[in-house]
Parts: sequence; structure tokens; C-alpha cells
Amino acid sequence: MARVLAIHAHPDDIEILAGGTLALLAEGGHAITVATFTPGDCGSRELGAEEIAAVRRGEAANSAARIGAQYVCLDFRDLCIFSDDPSRRRVTEALRQTRPELILTASPVDYLCDHEAVSALVRDACFSAPIPNYRAEGAPLDAIPHLYFMDPIGGHDRENKFVRPDFVVDVTATFYRKREMLAEHASQREWLRRHHGLDEYLDAMERWTRDCGALADVEYGEGFRQYRGHAYPQSPLLQDIIGSRAISTALP
Ligand SMILES: [Zn+2]
Repeated sequence: MARVLAIHAHPDDIEILAGGTLALLAEGGHAITVATFTPGDCGSRELGAEEIAAVRRGEAANSAARIGAQYVCLDFRDLCIFSDDPSRRRVTEALRQTRPELILTASPVDYLCDHEAVSALVRDACFSAPIPNYRAEGAPLDAIPHLYFMDPIGGHDRENKFVRPDFVVDVTATFYRKREMLAEHASQREWLRRHHGLDEYLDAMERWTRDCGALADVEYGEGFRQYRGHAYPQSPLLQDIIGSRAISTALP
């Protein structure tokens, strides 16, 4: 059984982009940690930062509990995530605590600065975490974890260019669970209605998951790209675990 860490910027990103895949992994008995950098402290017009953060921590924990995962918050703050020295040490510390073999994280390109900063921080902390002389709390990891990027939100970058995944996980069987997980984030649904002028929180997620599934001719899908930079694991650990539900989207 693998230790899996899904780590992204804000409460709800992981459910939108990888909830169905995590539900499949949970059904397979893998140990899952869901981590967000922030507790979503900017996500309200009515509540103060710490008040809404407390609400959203609870929502995120309830969502994770639906698949038997534990929830961790790294306690950064919204719009204050930067790839710098102290931040990389904090992320390295989180990796040394959770000790994942497999990590799912944010896309390097996305619509939001926090998402892109998380991607760089997690990528680089994977490299740092096994190095004994790199100063951060916790025992060094045995090896660099297998690293995967989720899709950007909506499958497109900030210039609306399509970002093609390497493969799509068929999440048709666990889509209902993904929807249940996202529905736990009731306060975010209200925030998006007020701030973005959209009251289609669950529907937008469903549309994106359907569009991604169409890339692989399945009803619902979630896309991933494996990061295979120098020194990072090259073997397809996630694809092997998922089996026939992981469908390559490589162009002929
Ligand atoms: Zn986000």
C-alpha cells in the first residue's frame, strides 16, 4: 500500500481536480493525506480571516473524512504563497512528516498565483526532503517521491490554452463521492456566488470532470501529468496502482 499525499493551495482545489482519483485510491486501501497550503482565509465577505479559516478547516476535514483521509493545513495565507527559502523549508517539513511515496499537486500553470507557487514549492521540496544536510524538521525521506501534477482548474492555463494531461483516470465509479466531498465546502460555494458571480460550484466541477473524461472516452475523468525531471522517479507508480482506469491521452 502506498502513502499518498494530495497537496494544493486551498480547501476545495483537491476535490475539484483529484477527488475521484483519491476515492479510488482510498477504496484500494492506500493511506491518504489531503493537505492545503492555506485554510482559505480570504474566502468570505462577511467573516474575518480567522473566522472563515476555522469554518473552512472544518469543511476540508469533513471532506477528507468521507474517504478516510486525514487533513493537514500548512498554515500559509491566501495570496501569500511564494517560492522562497523559508516556504520551501516548511513544505519540506510537511513532506518529512507525512512521508509520501506518491504526491499529487498543483499544475505549474493555472489561473491563480497561489496554485503556480504551490506547484514549484512542492516540486522543489520533493528534491530537498531526502537530503540529510538540508535543514528542515524531521528525518530525511528515503527517496524523492513520485510526483504528479493535477490539471489546472478547468483544464486551461491563464490564457485559456488547453493543458493536455498525460493520462486520464476514469473516475466514473467514484464521481458521486467526489461530488459529496466538494459539497462539504458550503462556504466556498457561497463565496464564489458573491465574488465570481457564479452559482454553479458543483455544476462547474461536473462539467470540467466530464470534459476531461471525454479525452479518454469515459464519462468522468481527472487528468494528470507525471513530473519526470532529472533525479525524480520515472516509473509510473500512479498508473500502475490505478490499472486499467488510467488511460493514456497521448496524441498518435
Ligand atoms: Zn485554489
